[in-house]
Order: sequence, then structure tokens, then C-alpha cells
Amino acid sequence: MSYQVIARKYRPGTFADITAQEHITHTIQNALRLDRVGHGYIFSGLRGVGKTTAARVFAKAVNCQKMIDDPLYRQEVTEPCGECESCRDFDAGTSLNISEFDAASNNSVDDIRQLRENVRYGPQKGRYRVYIIDEVHMLSTAAFNAFLKTLEEPPAHAIFIFATTELHKIPATISSRCQRFNFKRIPIGLIQSQLQMICRAETLEISDDALLLIARKAQGSMRDAQSILDQVIAFSVRNDDEKVIEYERVAELLNYIDDDQFFDVSDAIAGNDPVKMLQVARFVIDNGYDEQDFLEKLIEHFRNFLVLYNLRSTRLIERTEAVKERYQQSAGSFSASLVMQMIELLMKEAGELKFQFEYQFRFELTLLRLIELAHPGHGEQPAAPVQAVVPIKKKAPEQVLKTTPAASRSAGHTPGPAPAPPSPDLSAVPPSTSHLSIPDASCREEQLSQPPVPDRDQPGLSGVDFSAWQGRLMNFTRNSPRKPPVESSASGSSRNGVFEGVVEVEKFRMEWNQFLESLLKKRQKVLVTHLRSCELTSCSHGVLVMTCGKKFSYEELMQDSALLLSEIESFYGIPVKLQICYDATKDAMTREQTIFTLFRDLAETNDVMKYIIKEFGGELVY
Ligand SMILES: [Zn+2]
Repeated sequence: MSYQVIARKYRPGTFADITAQEHITHTIQNALRLDRVGHGYIFSGLRGVGKTTAARVFAKAVNCQKMIDDPLYRQEVTEPCGECESCRDFDAGTSLNISEFDAASNNSVDDIRQLRENVRYGPQKGRYRVYIIDEVHMLSTAAFNAFLKTLEEPPAHAIFIFATTELHKIPATISSRCQRFNFKRIPIGLIQSQLQMICRAETLEISDDALLLIARKAQGSMRDAQSILDQVIAFSVRNDDEKVIEYERVAELLNYIDDDQFFDVSDAIAGNDPVKMLQVARFVIDNGYDEQDFLEKLIEHFRNFLVLYNLRSTRLIERTEAVKERYQQSAGSFSASLVMQMIELLMKEAGELKFQFEYQFRFELTLLRLIELAHPGHGEQPAAPVQAVVPIKKKAPEQVLKTTPAASRSAGHTPGPAPAPPSPDLSAVPPSTSHLSIPDASCREEQLSQPPVPDRDQPGLSGVDFSAWQGRLMNFTRNSPRKPPVESSASGSSRNGVFEGVVEVEKFRMEWNQFLESLLKKRQKVLVTHLRSCELTSCSHGVLVMTCGKKFSYEELMQDSALLLSEIESFYGIPVKLQICYDATKDAMTREQTIFTLFRDLAETNDVMKYIIKEFGGELVY
């Protein structure tokens, strides 16, 4: 038998099978009992909650022979019988008494005129012809108007069912002539039990956790849930003899961040543990989860605490019992007002994150600020300079960065996203080392709590290099567009060690594409073309090494190195030295035979060419 997707295979055939829309199915069944069927209906609601399905069952019921002929059956059962000729035609999809019309793709006046023509003809068998017009809000105003006349004086045999996800877009002239039914979002529990039923019918073994995960992901849409289940089966079931779906596979497929991570965040807050917090952030970034999505889920996590505080029950928390138990246990760690503050902060940051300079870094800062919210006293303390907090390797004097002459020329005048300190001596330190200022939208100066000294031997900390991270924080603070330029009058005592790990190649790579974009905006197209054949290889001691895979680009970049250097410095706000290397092996692999290189090779290798050049004093021009 050919494969049929779950949503089709398990599509409800009776009113009773339609999940969670009893307020609608009961009303329709009542109308059928009383023989008071209308001519126009609007079914509105989220996608995949049963609008079209209900319309089909309705069409089947009004044409069911048994419903028509047997008043007792109609009174007491009020469902399509599924056995008469009409019902069988409906089930086989061959009934002529139902027309489905997709307004998203047929929304012109002509389409509606054609539909209007068809409506004139009554059914050959059965009582009604039912027209289901899906996505009706997509019809043009003219098309709606063309329809109005038909709806005002419909033929006795016609029933129109308009399905829409956007009720407000339907003109009042249409909606006032219809009975309106609003389909509800399907509760998670009901989706879960429906999926359970399907899995049982398919002889699939699946845990409640995994089902809950799918149901949550579907966000109230049964069709989405069934499609996800299809996908999960294809992903997890290896053969027909062993139809087991594991929670881990579902979580992997849905790119689901486990609740553990969110509890780690709340534990880090409760325990005033920034290192743990950064581990969570690293986990999110390294595993390719969306940071914004994580913050949104974190809001839900804190919302669950609020639910618990207010209802004193975990009933409305959509999690397994074990997870609900964890909420109960952790609830004592925070006050309701603190949770509100944290939610407020997260909502603000989640909305803005993607539009921010260095958003991954901001993501980490946001998480750390949650700790600060919970332990506000720490920032007020006269915090020690960073280098006293973080163990930093002894730094050799030559590692102190010196700017190149080009850097001091350019750093002061080019406006970039990050105004660079014009200081020629990069070992200068921002004056604010006593506390770390975090720029945010309102330019408030937030103070981070003094982080504990990470113990390198402590197990479990291997994932986060806290000192490198702090270095990045220093750099970020210095280069924030909102910060005033830092003066170079820092005391000598803060010169050691602070920039270690600051000017690292990752920092450049992270924003490299934006840098190229900024060059394009300045009409430096040629420069960008050459830069595209380069990669950033390393950066140490303030020297950024760039390897070029094309000889020609390499030569051009060498010519333009002063310009390039000043652009880099003004964009990143960091004075650097630039070293451009040529990688011949790479070139041999990727070389494009441009006309120039072809002729140049020819001029060097071909005897005739060499002779001509020699005799006539030729020169290669390109
Ligand atoms: Zn029937």
C-alpha cells in the first residue's frame, strides 16, 4: 500500500472525531437535528485546528442518505453514517457535492464569476452542494463584491463555508451574512493523546516525554503535530521490526533545548555563579541554537515560576511531572518581583538581540545581568581591577601592542561603528577597570558582580575560558559605539595583561562579513573582491595575518595595504599591524586562469612570445 501522511490517514470522518472543537460541532449537529442549515458559514482560527476537516464532515452529513431518510437516526446520532452511497463517495473523494476552492491562488474576479456560474447547478445526488473556500481573506475586494450577490440570494442547494486564519480581513458585508465559528487552539494534552492514539495504531513505541515535546512544538495545531510526527518517524525508525522512537532523537530533530539548560540558568542566578552561566551560553552558541529563541524560552521558564507563585499549583505548566517537580523545588530561590524583573529584562533583550552589535556577546551579557539583578549588592562594592580577579599569564613586554603609523593617522578621523581610541599606545587601559560598564539601549551603566576566580582544576569548567571571555568584555566595552573615546591617561599599574587575548583572530572573523559590507557601501568593490580570496589566518601580539590565495589579489592588496589597514582599524576600532601572506599552494589549486595570468605565463614560458617581447620591447599590459 502506498504511504499516506498521518494527517490524511487519520483525518476525522465524524463530528465526534474532531478534537477540542465541541462548541462548534455541537452547534452544527443541533442545526442538523432541527433541519436549520444555513447557507453561509465562516470557520476562523489558527492553521491546522480542524476548520477544513469540520467543513468536510459537515458536507458529508448534510448529504448522508441515512441522515436524510431516518429522522430517528438524525435525532439521536447526528453523524454521517459512513455506509450509504453518498458517504462512501465522500470517503473516496469522488463526491460531486463538495467543491474546495483555494482563494489564495484563485482570488480574481474571474475566478469568482466562474464559481458563481457553477453554483447555479444543483446536486445530481444528495441534497446540498457544499463550497469550501479556503483562505478566503485572500480574495480581492472586487472578488468579494462579485460574491456578495450570490451570498445574498443563494440557491437552496448551496452551502458556502469560508475558512480563514484572518477573520478581521473579511469585509463586514460578507461576514454579516454568515454564521461565524471560531476554532480554538488545541490544548497540548489533547494533541498528545491524539498522537498517542496514532502511534498505537501504527504500532510505534514512543515515550510520553517525546510526545509532549512534539505536542508543545505544534503550538496548538493538530496538523503541525501530525506533520512533526511524520518527520520524527522518518528520522527515528530504522526498520519495521523495531519501531521505537526515543526522546533524544525527537529532541535532536526538533533542535530542542532541554529543560536542564533553563534550570542551569536559574541555578546560576540563585547560586551567583557567572561561570556556570557562561557555560550555558557557550552550550547554546556552540550547539547552534538560536540565541533569541533561547531567551524567549527562558522567558517561558520564568513565566512558569510566576504561574507557580500565583496559582500555587503546577497545573498550567506544560511539562512532564518530573519537570514540574523541579519547578516546585526551585521556586523558593526567587521572589515574584525578581522574576518579573528578569522577565522584563529578557523581553527587552530578546526583542533587540539580533539588531545589536556583537549579538552573541550581548547574549552572554544578558544572561550575566540576570545574576546582577538577583544580587544587586555586588556591583556596589569597590570591585578589584579585572586583572586582580582573573588569573592572567605573565605577559612579555613585547606583547604590548603598538600601533603602526597608519593606525595613528587613521584612527582618529574615520567614523566607524566603533570609534577607536586615538591613543598610539595601545597598552593604555580604559579608566573604568574598577567596574565593567555594559552599554545598553538606555546607556545605563550596569555593574557586573565580581566573578569568582575560576579554579582551573575544578571539574566541569573546561568548556569556558573565563579569562579570555573577560578580555573580550574589556574589548567590547572599549569599542562600544556609545562609549566616549577612552583617554590614554591610564595608570601604569593597569598596563599589564589586560589586552591579552583581546585582539584575537576570532574577533575579526566574527564581524568580517560586516566589514566587507561596510567597504561595499564605501564603493570599495575592487578591494572587497580581492579580500574575498583571503582568509584571516591568525592574530597575535597585535599582528593580524591574512593569507591570500590569489597572486594577483595578493599584489593588489599589498599595493593598497595602507588603505586596507586604516579601514580595518576604523571598522574594528582596534589598531593592528597587518601582515598579508601569499599562499602559493592554495593558488595552484584555486587559480583562475585570467587573461592576465595566461599571458603572463605565456610571456615567461613561450619562446616565440619571449622573442617578440625581446625584439620589440614589448610589455604586458592588462
Ligand atoms: Zn451516510
